[in-house]
Amino acid sequence: MASTTFHTLILLLLLHSSSTLAAANAPESSSPSGCDTRSRGECYNRPEALRLKVIAIPTILVSSVIGVCLPLFSRSVPALRPDRNLFVVVKAFASGVILATGYMHVLPDSFDNLTSPCLPEKPWSEFPFTTFIAMVSAILTLMMDSLMLAFYNRQKKGGAAVVVDHESPMNAAVPVAHGHGHCGPPQLGKDEKEGEETALRRNRVIVQVLEMGIVVHSVVIGLSMGASQNPCTIRPLVAALCFHQMFEGMGLGGCILQAEYKMKMKAVLVFFFSTTTPFGVALGIALSNVYSDNSPTALIVVGILNACSAGLLNYTALVDLLAADFMGPKLQGNVKLQLAAYAAVLLGAGGMSFMSKWA
Ligand SMILES: [Zn+2]
Repeated sequence: MASTTFHTLILLLLLHSSSTLAAANAPESSSPSGCDTRSRGECYNRPEALRLKVIAIPTILVSSVIGVCLPLFSRSVPALRPDRNLFVVVKAFASGVILATGYMHVLPDSFDNLTSPCLPEKPWSEFPFTTFIAMVSAILTLMMDSLMLAFYNRQKKGGAAVVVDHESPMNAAVPVAHGHGHCGPPQLGKDEKEGEETALRRNRVIVQVLEMGIVVHSVVIGLSMGASQNPCTIRPLVAALCFHQMFEGMGLGGCILQAEYKMKMKAVLVFFFSTTTPFGVALGIALSNVYSDNSPTALIVVGILNACSAGLLNYTALVDLLAADFMGPKLQGNVKLQLAAYAAVLLGAGGMSFMSKWA
């Protein structure tokens, strides 16, 4: 249940930062031109905007649930069991989606926020803060990753290092990857079983880290839609966000699948992913009088959070998901499967990149 408290913490943090920026927003009416978009535009229509936003909440919720559950239900399809080739392809697709979320959604958003003309030129245009924060965040993710592994290993063996196939934690979780394709339940040695446990624990850490990386973007896109009073931009945005969340949900769902959680924990993860964007929309509606995307506080807080997420997502997608699988024994031993998995990565990354046109 650590992740539940963790998610609550994140949401509280975002809530807090929103209220801080709401408070900080009031005296900033004399910002540069174009920085106060709230009461302008030919399409300004409060009641119509509110109607659309209220419709958007359940619609986005449902499409998120569908997206994240789709890979989870694939469990009942025999061809998609973790030891099958198709599972590897589905996972490659999911990893591609996560990678594109980092590079194509979160990182450019952070650039937009932190280089906005609404921020003072000093120091914001004098140093590439976005890439710097993303880099530090990637290093911190690596540190967390390796220290956690070391901690668990030490706990397990009382100081002696366990020989774990670190290069392929996912494949270690799949017993058949070690064997020769025999059908019955493989007889596992003690070491092998321990390696499997470590791999499973790692997979679980990865899923929680991924949710953390995704949650910021999901809340922020909901928040800016919720705060908008412009039906002309909200209308296409509702459809875009539905697809956005469905696709991203498929990426996350593919990773939840391999963590082999129990039903209850899966439900918690699904719930938190699906509610983040609707929560953002509701928060945006509630704060629409005070919140503005272009207030300096909002730009700085959201920009920094986005840069942190970007580093985390890029590291996790490349190192923990893609490299782990493609360098692992299963894909290294099968060139055909490797090509299919590359096609899946390109499809996932391409689809998610396409969606960055809207949100
Ligand atoms: Zn996005």
